[in-house]
Amino acid sequence: MASITLEGLKKTYSGNVDAVKGIDLAIEDGEFVVLVGPSGCGKSTLLRMVAGLESITDGTLKIGDREVNNLEPAERDIAMVFQNYALYPHMTVYNNLAYGLKNRGFKKDQIEERVQTAAKMLEIADFLQRKPRQLSGGQRQRVAMGRALVRDPAAFLFDEPLSNLDAKLRVQMRVEIKQLQRRLKTTSLYVTHDQLEAMTLGDRLVVLNGGQIEQVGTPMEIYARP
Ligand code: ADP
Ligand code: ADP
Repeated sequence: MASITLEGLKKTYSGNVDAVKGIDLAIEDGEFVVLVGPSGCGKSTLLRMVAGLESITDGTLKIGDREVNNLEPAERDIAMVFQNYALYPHMTVYNNLAYGLKNRGFKKDQIEERVQTAAKMLEIADFLQRKPRQLSGGQRQRVAMGRALVRDPAAFLFDEPLSNLDAKLRVQMRVEIKQLQRRLKTTSLYVTHDQLEAMTLGDRLVVLNGGQIEQVGTPMEIYARP
């Protein structure tokens, strides 16, 4: 895993929309940072810039010691977990997990080892020959996380990964992500507008407002009422 450093990161969309107005933030190696704030405050723009899905207007983005501003998403050594699972419906769980590694030219036995290791960690080893539709929502979410995990990335980005789940499953997955984080110590940047999710998961919360950081602190510091 690696740190993520944002220095004066800015995004201006065409039409002079200043979506992100100069963010300084250092996410430590192994730290889980949750980005919260009202709709339109710039959360997904910021996450997409880190992922490489959106160009950076100004500022510097580093993964570890490496400046990655101009690298393609695939070259950034970062894995993104989406809310819609983004699983291939026609492929088995095994092949869903293996697909990204195959594309990256991994050898068959390396793929086997990584898939089996991730499957054990996520407790989906018994489902590897099933198709996504034969899984529960929670199991599918774990496969989606497995696809990120097999790549052994420097960091994880989460874009509202639980927002499509029903309330019960959301609670369950929140706990699972927390447990996984404790075990794996993944450097993570997680976007949500669910306050409970933010409080449960975050080592540190960053509150964005109008494209700027309004507050940074532990869940206690942010949400504790006097
Ligand atoms: P959030 O994820 O917090 O809801 P966004 O990052 O999606 O916020 O949006 C931040 C601001 O940038 C909003 O004012 C939004 O309308 C604007 N915005 C987002 N995407 C685009 C785009 N592709 N072109 C122009 N403006 C955009
Ligand atoms: P990775 O393993 O790095 O996520 P893949 O090569 O598996 O990359 O997928 C390439 C891109 O296609 C990724 O951005 C991924 O999120 C997207 N993708 C994967 N599965 C689906 C799907 N079922 N529907 C739409 N997009 C998908």
